[in-house]
Amino acid sequence: MLIVRTTAELDQVEPARAGKRRGRRAVVMTMGALHEGHLALVRAAREAADQVVVTVFVNPLQFDDVADLERYPRDLDADAALLEPLGVDVLYAPSVADVYPGGRPIVTVSAGAINDVFEGEHRRGHFDGVLTVVLKLMHLTRPDVAYFGQKDAQQVIAIRTMCRDLNVPVGVAVVPTVRDGDGLALSSRNAHLSAGERADALVLSRALAEAQQVLDEGGPLSLALTVARAVVAQVPSVVPDYIGAMDPVSAAPVGGDYRGDVVIAVAARVGGTRLIDNVVTRVGPREGVA
Ligand code: AMP
Repeated sequence: MLIVRTTAELDQVEPARAGKRRGRRAVVMTMGALHEGHLALVRAAREAADQVVVTVFVNPLQFDDVADLERYPRDLDADAALLEPLGVDVLYAPSVADVYPGGRPIVTVSAGAINDVFEGEHRRGHFDGVLTVVLKLMHLTRPDVAYFGQKDAQQVIAIRTMCRDLNVPVGVAVVPTVRDGDGLALSSRNAHLSAGERADALVLSRALAEAQQVLDEGGPLSLALTVARAVVAQVPSVVPDYIGAMDPVSAAPVGGDYRGDVVIAVAARVGGTRLIDNVVTRVGPREGVA
């Protein structure tokens, strides 16, 4: 595995491989502190592509909270040790100065209306920062396909929308959320949780599972959301930012008697740590099912 720390070096990777057919290249973009969720993306990429590039970059542009940025876990040696056995070809881990040599970029990508709902509403500027770095990293690594996790459902919607609206010639592949055995969605931020907070945080996946059960039994979306909110309210140390439902294509909020595919999403603070989770499901019968 080649470890590349600068954009200039990354450019050298391309000519070095010239002469032999480049093949299909996949990229997995991460902020490091890798766990099994990230590794699921890498394995999926490895199976589908000839060349796998993993990026590790904690992107300051997407943090609305300086304290969150400063305490975000970073351990490149541990990340490299996890990636090497998976057959990753290139680990690209640039510095902030290398990615943003002029400081904050003058021209950025806007997530438009996606900024007004759910994560966008609660983390001002977050999706503009995400899309700006994703587009930059796509230009820098030139993949055929990029892998993202369903864990960040609204992020996937924003990236798909960017690629569609700006004709970005990169396929977007999505990998299901990886969870611990007890249901907690894996996240680099879980490292901040105390044992007690971790136990409390389980209420999030439990609330989503109970909402899903309401829908599976034919109940309306409004009831599923009421149940999810009631479950989370049982644990006062878990303070929700939102518990809601979104259209899986536009991220627009849906509710009431909506029928069709839906993402039920939750964000909450557990102590000083903000966690998100979601479930992709459907309101009403599936196609072909009576
Ligand atoms: P991050 O390092 O948090 O920016 O995440 C990098 C990529 O890994 C994103 O596409 C995330 O959606 C994905 N990811 C993070 N956690 C999980 C998880 N538990 N399951 C699946 N994908 C994940």
